[in-house]
Amino acid sequence: SIYGDYIKSVIRTVPDWPQSGVNFRDITPLLQNRSAFRKLIDSFVHRYQEMGIDAVAAIDARGFIVGAPLAYELGCSFVPVRKKGKLPFRTISETYTLEYGEAEVELHSDAFKRGDRILIVDDLIATGGTMLAAAKLISRSGGQVVETSTIVDLPDLGGSQRIREAGYGVFAVCS
Ligand code: 5GP
Repeated sequence: SIYGDYIKSVIRTVPDWPQSGVNFRDITPLLQNRSAFRKLIDSFVHRYQEMGIDAVAAIDARGFIVGAPLAYELGCSFVPVRKKGKLPFRTISETYTLEYGEAEVELHSDAFKRGDRILIVDDLIATGGTMLAAAKLISRSGGQVVETSTIVDLPDLGGSQRIREAGYGVFAVCS
């Protein structure tokens, strides 16, 4: 993407967090930098402003940081895709497997109308499990997933490839 190299340069890698052997990509320096944060949101706005998006579905919790300003700029709705047990009304959920155990994402059953054009956003794609679960959930709810999008893709982990093989597009600001 246009600002990809710049955005990448303001993401910090924290070794051995949250556990030994993991290089955690920390986006907080990017959020702290006013010029970088603006360019980040603009990267998404630029890509999606002419795509007729009805709702931005953002994944709990760092997806919300991008999803809310993006929905505001696109003039569309904001839909939270949350971790299990956080949404108060009637929900539908999708379970997926993690390296150790399982996780679940949930969506309100009235979050959008059948056929609505939905853009999904999160901060990072690693194995792709979270993003794929969110995409399946939105498809099952009758939404049309226009694309899945992320600030960072870690292509060596194969997640974005897995999402594409499942039939969904992937846009990453940087890799
Ligand atoms: P996946 O399901 O693709 O394996 O993992 C992606 C999810 O875990 C995203 O919701 C993301 O927020 C979180 N995640 C995993 N690794 C990292 C990382 O290194 N940095 C950040 N910022 N988030 C991560």
